[in-house]
Amino acid sequence: MAEQFDVVIIGSGPAGYVCAIRAAQLGLKTACIEKWVDDQGKVKLGGTCLNVGCIPSKALLDSSYKYYEAKKYFGVHGITTGEVDIDVPAMIKRKDKIVGNLTQGVGGLFKANGVTLVQGTGTVLSGTQVKVTVADGSSQILDTKNVVIATGSVPVEIPPAPITENRIVDSTGALDFQEVPGRLGVIGAGVIGLELGSVWARLGSEVIVLEAQDSFLAAADQQIAKEASKILKKQGLDIRLSARVTKSNVDGREVTVKYIDQSGKEHTLVFDKLIVAVGRRPLTDNLIAPDSGVKQDERGFIVVDEQCRTEISTVYAIGDVVRGPMLAHKGSEEGVMVAELIAGQPVQVNYDLVPSVIYTHPEIAWVGKTEEEIKVTAEEYKVGTFPFVASGRAMAANDTDGMVKVIADKKTDRILGVHVIGPAAAELVQQGAIAMEFAATSEDLALTMFSHPTVSEALHEAALAVDGHAIHIANRKKR
Ligand code: FAD
Ligand code: AMP
Repeated sequence: MAEQFDVVIIGSGPAGYVCAIRAAQLGLKTACIEKWVDDQGKVKLGGTCLNVGCIPSKALLDSSYKYYEAKKYFGVHGITTGEVDIDVPAMIKRKDKIVGNLTQGVGGLFKANGVTLVQGTGTVLSGTQVKVTVADGSSQILDTKNVVIATGSVPVEIPPAPITENRIVDSTGALDFQEVPGRLGVIGAGVIGLELGSVWARLGSEVIVLEAQDSFLAAADQQIAKEASKILKKQGLDIRLSARVTKSNVDGREVTVKYIDQSGKEHTLVFDKLIVAVGRRPLTDNLIAPDSGVKQDERGFIVVDEQCRTEISTVYAIGDVVRGPMLAHKGSEEGVMVAELIAGQPVQVNYDLVPSVIYTHPEIAWVGKTEEEIKVTAEEYKVGTFPFVASGRAMAANDTDGMVKVIADKKTDRILGVHVIGPAAAELVQQGAIAMEFAATSEDLALTMFSHPTVSEALHEAALAVDGHAIHIANRKKR
């Protein structure tokens, strides 16, 4: 009789590989199918996140910030250097090496945990059968008790700016420039557009970001978004809102872009490179046999319940291919949840506490509700803020832009949201997330002892400020 798996996972991104490892840890006979191969035909694990997403973008953000800091701020510390220069191919090579190490690491973890890796493209035939097709067209059927779809997402393409060989690129292309473009256009002022725009702006590109919406970072708390807009503009990012790109044309080494502003006036810009960063769509091309019973919504997301079950009881879907924010950690948590569910140990992802981070400098991060969201639900709330300009640690690090904002329920004092723009914002917000997971009040944070001097003290002070007793800043509210 053919081998039968307990669970077959399609896709080895942060949702799929984490699900596979956890399932194997729980004693389930587990296979993970991945279609991505390198130039030599060797399977590439880790999905978007490891190969062309979170990790490579952060590698370039870190490299480019070091260059920017050396050029712009070393003098403040009394450090003089010779001419500071950037070797872009070396920077890209470093990024590729990190990616290589991590993707190989996933292979090692599969081996260590006993996950069977199957190279090829998976198609869901039914709740118990998955077909795997390889490059030469041959295929095999895997029999399984459960199927987990974790096929992720791909960049959205828009008709006014189709991707070309190397002038108009998506986020993947923007991670591989071999030289700094003199004039760089970015369509979309979302997370990816701002991060990639920042990388190349720091290295010397003149960057113009064109955003169709009239608000900046609509999903973020607007007090933080305003601060972000001010800081990023000061850094040289020319962010134009209400700017809808309608046309582009590649002519030799240049890209001409037309956009329409709020008043309907057409503008023309010329760039050396154009990055299209207008969002991502779920990847389900040829994935699901029409009679399998697995449903998709009108935008292509696979329809699932709170525990990532599809309409078919033995088929689950997790990560970017289902509703919710397209974030690696959200998919990974769903992967763990589904593995445990299949093993009979039900747990639940707390979708109210998915932290968001934009890795600009300073970082922008938040967890929980924004002030705008709270206003809609008419909950009574109180706010405490603390600026990094009053933080001794931030001053020592010459990194005083930004602030921390803590929002708490007026009656119960329970923390509703933590929003940070500033040094180590991602790490500070994580402290907020832990506090919120334990249903902490702002007083709980205020009563917690924080090491001195740390940038985390700004979170402590913002929590104290909620009730008007911050120590290192004048309180507006007195207690
Ligand atoms: P993916 O990572 O997309 O993986 C899906 C995998 O499935 C791929 O390997 C694909 O080849 C494979 N696959 C697809 N179809 C099939 C098939 N039919 N058969 C077999 N295999 C298949 N998120 C963060 O949380 N933090 C960040 O800092 C961050 N930065 C980002 C920066 C950039 C530039 C980009 C593009 C994304 C970033 N993201 C970030 C988003 C993050 O990468 C995604 O949310 C995450 O990778 C989604 O994980 P996933 O496992 O659902 O899908
Ligand atoms: P995100 O989904 O966070 O990656 O952000 C993508 C951004 O691209 C959104 O804010 C969109 O408004 C923006 N966008 C989409 N199409 C266009 C366009 N034609 N011109 C300018 N901005 C666009």
